[in-house]
Amino acid sequence: MQIETEMTPAFIGLGSNVGDREENIKKAISLLKNNRKIKVKKVSSLYETEPVGYVDQGEFLNAAIEIETDLTPHELLKVTKGIEEKLKRDRKIKWGPRTIDLDILLFGDLRIDEPHLNVPHPEIKNRAFVLIPLAEIAGQIIHPDGKTIDDLLRELIDVKSVRKYR
Ligand code: AMP
Repeated sequence: MQIETEMTPAFIGLGSNVGDREENIKKAISLLKNNRKIKVKKVSSLYETEPVGYVDQGEFLNAAIEIETDLTPHELLKVTKGIEEKLKRDRKIKWGPRTIDLDILLFGDLRIDEPHLNVPHPEIKNRAFVLIPLAEIAGQIIHPDGKTIDDLLRELIDVKSVRKYR
């Protein structure tokens, strides 16, 4: 008899602005798919985005994915950090160039406020490059603060340009 364990829906944001950006994002998604405790359910289009913060760097490609997992949020963070390490993330400049960045955006209805893990990701509401891909796959999902992703996108003041890439 197969025992079904409870899977939690979660959303991950991905970004890359170094090397073959599209390949970096695809590799990260395939590494997530290789984890038997993660099911990748939806993948957004790729969006091209002006850098935020440290602007003297290449444009980012961003995407969002929906997964289902029976990992805990901390275990999932370990997995995403492992993928960043594997794809040789360059951490030398804060906000600077990066091979790949993986952020846990939402994890079910959970709220976590710890030094190394904040869920929902606090920047969701402020960033077009997070909200636009996320709205494509999860517009009607309700952020734990009570608004849908589509609502948050409508309220966004971010003026950075985000274009559909592919
Ligand atoms: P950054 O270099 O700006 O991407 O920050 C990476 C750090 O943010 C990681 O070491 C994580 O411990 C921390 N962090 C806090 N909340 C999250 C989250 N929801 N998803 C990913 N990383 C997070």
